[in-house]
Amino acid sequence: MDYSHETLELAEMIAETCTGCKRCMKDCLFLQRYCEDPQELFQRFLSEGLEPIIPYSCMFCGRCAVVCPLQLKLDDAFLSIRRDMIKEGLPLKQLKSVELHQKLSISKLFTTVNEGK
Ligand code: SF4
Ligand code: SF4
Repeated sequence: MDYSHETLELAEMIAETCTGCKRCMKDCLFLQRYCEDPQELFQRFLSEGLEPIIPYSCMFCGRCAVVCPLQLKLDDAFLSIRRDMIKEGLPLKQLKSVELHQKLSISKLFTTVNEGK
């Protein structure tokens, strides 16, 4: 999987500067579930990549950057990883059901025209 220059820069910055203080993890169930701390997570990403479920689980609430003493924007990094994954045709498997729902929603079989009668 090829990641963009932007993704790698963001990931390297977090992997190199995060102190592992875990302040961002206090209110983030996602981070609590998937890592020891963001430094460990982004070091792992740089060395072996991540399961798509991980970047897709960030809700982009921005809370981490507010409480981080270094204002590290983890959400920017997860968004960038997601963009790269989409480009490589690697959306989260669960999103296939959304795609199917959208296809069915506009299919002639399941729609009707409101003729205003
Ligand atoms: S933006 Fe993502 S990583 Fe940051 S606190 Fe919210 S859910 Fe957690
Ligand atoms: S608050 Fe910032 S420095 Fe502390 S663990 Fe989270 S990302 Fe790293």
